[in-house]
Amino acid sequence: MDKVICVGKNYLKHARELGDAVPEQPVYFLKPPSTIHTVQKSGEVVTLPGTGEVHHEVELVFEISAGRLSRYTIGLDLTLRDIQARQKKSGLPWEIAKVFRNSCILGPWREIDDYHPLLEKKFSLSVNGEVRQSGMGKDMRWNPEFLLQDVQKWFPVCEGDLLFTGTPEGVGPLKDGDHVTVTGPEIHYEFSVARR
Ligand code: MG
Repeated sequence: MDKVICVGKNYLKHARELGDAVPEQPVYFLKPPSTIHTVQKSGEVVTLPGTGEVHHEVELVFEISAGRLSRYTIGLDLTLRDIQARQKKSGLPWEIAKVFRNSCILGPWREIDDYHPLLEKKFSLSVNGEVRQSGMGKDMRWNPEFLLQDVQKWFPVCEGDLLFTGTPEGVGPLKDGDHVTVTGPEIHYEFSVARR
């Protein structure tokens, strides 16, 4: 595994909630493997930056193996939204808003042969018992297979690379002590947030 490939604004309602123009082509960015935190034990504490506005983005995530989408999980593409907004406004790259420790949260992996049925199933994120984001892969603007092919025009894709496929609407801040629950097809995990 070499990298985590993320796609931005793949759900129209999310692009609109950010007040962004809807792009004509997928927008990609990368996270290095050092940003990954896999939730092993339900209820564990995940440490996030002590300052700034850390937003949750719940996403359907695939692992790429032998040139295909071999496994999936539900992950979080955590984002320092205030920093990202500032960088965008200045026309600057926004890696500093995306590549911080534990900014890439992963749940347990599930094997798949065909990803299509998965797109008909709901995945969601709740904070302190309140549903904040809920979506279905079928609402993606560019489907996972298209993204897998398209991204190879731009990046060398390596065995074990991960593909984050974008977030539905409802992104919002995570505060110190928040309890986060992530659910999806055959996936359920929870963690608590420490901001320090
Ligand atoms: Mg995202």
